[in-house]
Amino acid sequence: MASHQFQTEVSQLLHLIIHSLYSNKEIFLRELISNASDALDKLKYLSLTDDKYKSLDQEFRIDIKFDEEAHTLTIADTGIGMNDEELAQNLGTIAKSGTKSFLANLSGDAKKDSNLIGQFGVGFYSAYMVADKIEVLTKKPGDSQGWKWTSDGKGEFDISPAEKENYGTSITLYLNDEGKEYTTRWQLELLIKKYSDHISFPIYLEYMSVRYEGDEKDPKEIKEKKIEKINSGSALWKRSKSELTDADYNEFYKTISHDTEDPLFYVHTKAEGTLEYTTLFFIPKKAPFDMLHADYKPGVKLYVSRVFITDDDQELMPVYLRFLRGVIDSEDLPLNVSREILQQNKIMSSIRNASVKKVLAELKSLSESNKEKYNEFIKQYNVVLKEGIWSDWANRDTLLDLVRFKSTVADGYTSFADYVGRMKEGQKAIYYITGGNEQSLKASPLIEAYKAKGYEVLVMDDPRIDEIVLSALGKYKDYDLKSVNKSGSAEELKSAEDEAKADALKPVLEKIKNVLGDKIKKAVVSSRLSDSPSCIVADENDPTMEMQEILRSIGQQKDDCAPVLEINPDHVIVKRLADTDDKETVEDISWLLLDEAKLAEGAKLDDPAGFIRRINKLAEKAL
Ligand code: ADP
Repeated sequence: MASHQFQTEVSQLLHLIIHSLYSNKEIFLRELISNASDALDKLKYLSLTDDKYKSLDQEFRIDIKFDEEAHTLTIADTGIGMNDEELAQNLGTIAKSGTKSFLANLSGDAKKDSNLIGQFGVGFYSAYMVADKIEVLTKKPGDSQGWKWTSDGKGEFDISPAEKENYGTSITLYLNDEGKEYTTRWQLELLIKKYSDHISFPIYLEYMSVRYEGDEKDPKEIKEKKIEKINSGSALWKRSKSELTDADYNEFYKTISHDTEDPLFYVHTKAEGTLEYTTLFFIPKKAPFDMLHADYKPGVKLYVSRVFITDDDQELMPVYLRFLRGVIDSEDLPLNVSREILQQNKIMSSIRNASVKKVLAELKSLSESNKEKYNEFIKQYNVVLKEGIWSDWANRDTLLDLVRFKSTVADGYTSFADYVGRMKEGQKAIYYITGGNEQSLKASPLIEAYKAKGYEVLVMDDPRIDEIVLSALGKYKDYDLKSVNKSGSAEELKSAEDEAKADALKPVLEKIKNVLGDKIKKAVVSSRLSDSPSCIVADENDPTMEMQEILRSIGQQKDDCAPVLEINPDHVIVKRLADTDDKETVEDISWLLLDEAKLAEGAKLDDPAGFIRRINKLAEKAL
């Protein structure tokens, strides 16, 4: 017998599961049955595609039995089984990507954590909520040697060779006080129906039935072992929409996603005609924990005529729709499709294209019929829709209708269509401001003149994506998208009067540029400022400050691009600056105009001490 240590993350996860999922402990049965079903799926697939497995002699099935006195519960399947190495790997480590950062994100608050853990998918380990000890007896088809894995879930597990007659896996739980209730026929029947009715392999429950015979006054008790099939066993997605309830969909979603919450939304489609396929997609209420990891786990399973093919193919759906959970079942693909074939397969790409269109169209109608629900969706998935704008040209127009932004004139979410509907007469472009923080963007001096004219400005405060997508986009319908953070954007606001002022202030601009040197690209007279004395913008062809941050973070930008300093010709400070030639005053004021503008943008100052010194000097003078 060999003893092994659980990987640190497993121990941590076990501890968390036991302490945060208590109120939902019955899901352990769903998890074990769904593992059994996966194991059967894998073997069934091999039996259809690999000669080595053509002559299997067991029925594909799941068997559940219990012992009321010994407090044990056994879930057995005739699936693919595991050898000793696989046992150690599968039930001793967590292969899921992002596990570490997932665990680091947990708060210690049981309620919050149970949601997160639900999304993570606890699987096998959830059985430790109801068991003190678990024994896994397993053998692979074709192997002569079986193996036994045992553990009390406290840091170590043992693996030893064991006798097993049939191939497949049999998992026995030694139930603790929490789990004792799961040794009655009615309780187990209830749970199997509730969680696993749609599992496509038969689930049998073994129980003792008692009947009385003979003399009515002195009946003889006769106990008989009975085995009954519990689940209806039809693949849920194949059933017609009209016979399915929301509850059916919700339970099915939970089995395939491991989520503890109901889904936000689902789309069930049956296509008939040139191509025959069924798809059922779910959108989780909360974005999957690994949605923003590069090595996310895809959530869509591919079946061919109800036979499971793969659940690990990132190409089944476009990357930006990686939050979708669900099933694609095609009648037209060959059973032995390999990953390479899938990638080039015309049928697969037609199904994929039609599915994307369908999901986006359903979201579009949701946005019209149920704003509240749509807003919930946007809260979680706006960022990936924006990614779609960038990556999915074919559906760009729909995606442009689906994304939402914050705005200077409306609370909540604004669409491009909302914006256009509110445009002022004579307004030619859609204006947006980018940066890291909604509050400071809305208060930014850059948008003063737009506000004054009644122009709406979209507030793009998601540094991960806004800048990249919008600069790539350029236009919405016939309207140019203009970044307020750029020097050219205020052109439209310029009047003849402004031109005259700009001429008059030329000497001041020269003074400022002489002081600030290469800290600024140039100083210009602004047409956009009303209250503030100055602001900074990026030169027309330079990346904005936000973009420079992004470029720097991915190692694409070495030096800063100096900003353009815009000054307000009507501001007292600027007027006084025109009137003075005192070297020290000109220097101090020039620096203040730049540093203040930087602060208003939330940017860092090169010389904060110098800034404070100048402010203090001016305060002294004023007092
Ligand atoms: P998940 O099912 O999410 O991968 P689990 O912790 O439930 O996570 O299971 C880990 C792995 O153990 C599975 O991916 C599978 O490879 C293996 N496994 C679990 N149960 C069985 C079973 N009944 N038969 C064969 N393999 C199993």
